[in-house]
Amino acid sequence: MELPEHLRDEVRVNWYMTQWCNYSCPYCPVLVFHKRTKSGQPQPHAFDYYPVEKWLDLFDGVKASKLHVHITGGEPFLDRQNFRDLLMGFAARPHISTYISTNAAWDPTYFADVDKTNIFLDVGFHPTQTSLDDLIKQVRRIRDGGFNIAIVNYVLSPENTEIFDEANARLSADGFFVQVSPMFPTGEHLSRDYRTDREMEILVRNNTRLDLHYKIIWPEMKKRLCFYPALNYALDWQGNVQVSCLEGSRNAFESGFPELPREAVPCPQHTCIGCCEMYRAIEDEPLYSNPLKIFTHRDLAREVSDYRKTVRAEMTGDQIRQEVMELKSALAEVREQHDHKMPVIPVDGIKPALPEGQPMIGYVDAVDSKFYMEARSRDRIMVSGWLASAMNGAPLREVKLRLGDRQVASVKEFYPRPDVAAHFGRQNWLMSGWRTMIYLPTLAPGEHGLIVEGVDSAGVSAELPPWPLRINE
Ligand code: SF4
Ligand code: SF4
Repeated sequence: MELPEHLRDEVRVNWYMTQWCNYSCPYCPVLVFHKRTKSGQPQPHAFDYYPVEKWLDLFDGVKASKLHVHITGGEPFLDRQNFRDLLMGFAARPHISTYISTNAAWDPTYFADVDKTNIFLDVGFHPTQTSLDDLIKQVRRIRDGGFNIAIVNYVLSPENTEIFDEANARLSADGFFVQVSPMFPTGEHLSRDYRTDREMEILVRNNTRLDLHYKIIWPEMKKRLCFYPALNYALDWQGNVQVSCLEGSRNAFESGFPELPREAVPCPQHTCIGCCEMYRAIEDEPLYSNPLKIFTHRDLAREVSDYRKTVRAEMTGDQIRQEVMELKSALAEVREQHDHKMPVIPVDGIKPALPEGQPMIGYVDAVDSKFYMEARSRDRIMVSGWLASAMNGAPLREVKLRLGDRQVASVKEFYPRPDVAAHFGRQNWLMSGWRTMIYLPTLAPGEHGLIVEGVDSAGVSAELPPWPLRINE
């Protein structure tokens, strides 16, 4: 099916502008960094690559009379000078509407003289990084400073659940729309594949059936027809651009923006776990009947507020719990189809001998066949491996990561490693996989050792030999 005529002159650029951030959220999926490099090397930050005027020239080259630019990071407002100049440049181009995902931990007075008529914010509340009182103070200041706050986004992670009711009530009473987003497995929770009943109930009470279907169940998408690529680009901090969801990227500064398909295209992905505007562009989604458009955070606030008032508010506690049960069983069905299959290991098969006197066997994954890790002091890094108890198998009770005496991570959720179970001929080593993202502390340049310590189900603990971590600067 072809893209409707009235949408052919409108486009959105989703610009992943920076990985610079002043927060360290445990569930953050971004490998954020906290400062520029001492040696001046470009970091994943747009203005380390091109000056503001060049970026503005680039956006002037997009062929559309209505241009939506959605800026994400990291925290875009941290680079005050460049970002202010960019917003002034956008404001001078009335065909551009700007949407910014931000943590609100910045001073709006630096942006006092920016025309904010076409700027809309999506503020993330991160209770491990700021108190509710401070967040409310900040969003009020930012609103009083003239910014439109379209939504306050609340990620329902394990560490955020307890204060949800209070945060939701206070922010809503203050006129803010609170969007409740299910946490997807990432950051410190890379292997968390379950949600508690409490989390599920909050999600059901505050979301549409459509959003729950895509954000919790992750149904198979391959080949379903979708208009999202016909309306959206994905651009990064270096200027690499691609038609959203489709393969193939090029540098927009060198080769311009590629042509968009002017029709619904078969989805090339298996899941559509992205943002709420993505699956609202599927051509034949039975759970969604509103007309196709470039769906924004303001549209989301309107649509979900209406749904809460007309559908959720009418539901009894039993009906909510019934929907939770239905979601859980739909999820179990999808998992059943996708789950890792355990290799068949004969119960009485010969098991390779284990090294003598080692209570734990395991390894850190050597990424790109490098038997060390490289990073800068205070960077965020991803680290993974497997670990099993010679006596008690896996999963372990906990895997702790240390640098010297300082614990930098604790992993209590594990994932299947059928390769490990098969190699060692031990069925009960399947759940030996561990993975996490960690924020490094301040470390002197040179070589350090990352200690991986396991505690098994019987409380026995042991360490692997230190894994080299090279700090460059
Ligand atoms: S979740 Fe957002 S605010 Fe938190 S560290 Fe990541 S980019 Fe920064
Ligand atoms: S269904 Fe989702 S992942 Fe697939 S093309 Fe559409 S937006 Fe992209």
